[in-house]
Amino acid sequence: VLTPSPIPRRPAFEGCAPTSIELAPRANGAILLLVREGDLPALLPTLRNFEHRFNARFKYPYVFLSAPDEPPFSPHFRASIADAVHPGALLEFGQVPEEHWRIPEWLDEDEIRAGFLRQAGEGVQYGGREGYHHMCRFYSGLFARHELLQKYEWYWRLEPGVRFYCSVTYDPFRFLAQRNQTYGFVITLIDDLNTIPSLYKTVKQYVQEAGLTPTDMWDFFTRDKNGASGYNRCHFWTNFEIGHLPFFRSQPYQQLFTALDRSGGFYTERWGDAPIRTIALGLLEGTDKVHYFEDFAYRHDWFMHCPERKEMGCDCDCPAFDTDHVDIDGQSWGSCVPEWKDISSVQWRE
Ligand code: GDP
Ligand code: MN
Repeated sequence: VLTPSPIPRRPAFEGCAPTSIELAPRANGAILLLVREGDLPALLPTLRNFEHRFNARFKYPYVFLSAPDEPPFSPHFRASIADAVHPGALLEFGQVPEEHWRIPEWLDEDEIRAGFLRQAGEGVQYGGREGYHHMCRFYSGLFARHELLQKYEWYWRLEPGVRFYCSVTYDPFRFLAQRNQTYGFVITLIDDLNTIPSLYKTVKQYVQEAGLTPTDMWDFFTRDKNGASGYNRCHFWTNFEIGHLPFFRSQPYQQLFTALDRSGGFYTERWGDAPIRTIALGLLEGTDKVHYFEDFAYRHDWFMHCPERKEMGCDCDCPAFDTDHVDIDGQSWGSCVPEWKDISSVQWRE
């Protein structure tokens, strides 16, 4: 039985021509990227694609952040980016502050670095890369405190190498804003267990200590799946995400982040920002605040999502599924779309 909902699954389809929405005021949003100088070759085609599919029309500003253990972006890097995006684009280049990119003082550095070697030996993905641990910690909570983001209300996270295969003809920031929503995703799947052995236990302890009552979304990632109980490891993939910054800057979110950070799991294990994000939304926000951009066509590495029915997207040129373009929604890859459809109040009608 389908439950009707006031939140439509996607905007009313207005055709692929520029819609009236583009004449409306823009949201206070920015495109956010944390990258390395060396990412440039993968970054440029992604920016050209993103501009072609969305931003040449909507003209949102960009914020590029580098890590403080690398030199600031070179003039060549900046000029190459300016060349890849629409003329006159507002480009801001900044750095993550030093204190947000190091093993925190409450942990023993030598012990932690020995732990990275152990993680690498145990096959924990990226477990041996210190920078990756910092990146996950940064995106889990510290990013929302970055000075370049303070003037913005929304961010859309982008990564070198990703592709969009349909045009986005409406403004997804405003789409979320008009529905009073907090967060949007395209891909949801299960995480590797060996990156987060103690995450769920730590979260449950925090829930108890803080006296919190999880929202209706809790069931999304705690129902049994493939024999997994407790945290079933369903999460929104954060390499694409659109988020409402006031939520991520809010006291409840930052307090949860700080508690998790204090426990050390970003370093003693290899907690990703994606499970943290998802669990936080399930604890503090709820299903109605999260939107599945099912009409977007998106690929990260070899995982791809394309709208099930062609008329959902605009001018799509999704490649055929093959070994480099794996259908993430196919069940063998651990997609959590079935769980999401089941749990969300959105009306799913074929
Ligand atoms: P994956 O998507 O989890 O496989 O990881 P990626 O290698 O794509 O990294 C995710 C994002 O963080 C990308 O935008 C990277 O450029 C960025 N990133 C990862 N590690 C580092 C790092 O050590 N320094 C900087 N500056 N960025 C990083
Ligand atoms: Mn990536």
